[in-house]
Amino acid sequence: MTAAILDGKALAEELRAAFKARVAMLAAQGQRPGLAVILAGEDPASEIYVRNKVNACEAAGIFSQKITYPVDVAPATVLLKIAELNADPRIHGILVQLPLPQQFDAKTILEAIAPEKDVDGFHAANVGALAQGIPAFIPCTPYGVMKMLAALDVSLAGKEAVIIGRSNIVGKPLALLLINAGATVTVCNSKTRDLAQHTRRADILIAALGKPRFVTADMVKPGAVVIDVGINRLPLEEGGKLCGDVDFEAVKEIASLITPVPGGVGPMTIAMLLANTIESAERKSKS
Ligand code: NAP
Repeated sequence: MTAAILDGKALAEELRAAFKARVAMLAAQGQRPGLAVILAGEDPASEIYVRNKVNACEAAGIFSQKITYPVDVAPATVLLKIAELNADPRIHGILVQLPLPQQFDAKTILEAIAPEKDVDGFHAANVGALAQGIPAFIPCTPYGVMKMLAALDVSLAGKEAVIIGRSNIVGKPLALLLINAGATVTVCNSKTRDLAQHTRRADILIAALGKPRFVTADMVKPGAVVIDVGINRLPLEEGGKLCGDVDFEAVKEIASLITPVPGGVGPMTIAMLLANTIESAERKSKS
């Protein structure tokens, strides 16, 4: 069997076209959606992510504000800026790019964002709402994964879903979403014994561990849906290209559906950030 490829880039483009109409409608009511992105330090990968987010906002007609700080910025300065943005009526979403420099306690920073502007969905109030099955803002990457599954009519109720990775930004929120959708969910981590024994049971296998081509064909059940969240840069001697956590070439011969890297979950993550920002502005316009 050769798997169908889940084209995240195409789906994200489709979504973004629909967003434009929603943004235009809000702008006509004087409520143009606005996103503020805070970047502390000069991490090259973070700079690229922030640039992509700001460009995506501009393309969708969303107002965006990029606030950058040097690596040694005092946490109090960033907290003050967040308080300002919380009160700014032009801003409907606030995003702090992670990871933060070492002097920061990320939890303190994320909790300072007003929950109703927390478009990354990392605030404890939003995590709690998601756990209760009444999400307000769903973290963008898991949200993107769920949209991809929905777009392809992948049924979830009663299915075995196995996630490799338990991070707060991917694995855990995705587990909650899949539980809410009625799947039977297993979440694996670096201490999991006999990982392949779990992955081979999966009707839906999600790799989010950050290890290039870690998931090999012998770890995958024939006909499984395989979602590759990983983004890894291969060493220069191996071509220096981006690759996922799944051995794409081998696994596509076994799976029924598979996401590529690049062009899979990545573009959907940015699309869902726009979706959350627009949603936030729509809520504000109705309040
Ligand atoms: P993370 O915080 O480093 O978490 C990695 C998780 O994988 C941890 O729970 C870790 O277990 C687990 N893990 C590591 N090695 C393992 C192994 N050998 N067997 C089983 N579990 C293992 O990473 P993250 O932020 O969730 O990101 C994961 C990957 O997704 C990265 O490649 C990242 O770049 C990518 N990512 C992509 C997007 C996108 O838009 N496509 C967005 C976010 C992240 P422990 O908890 O036991 O350490």
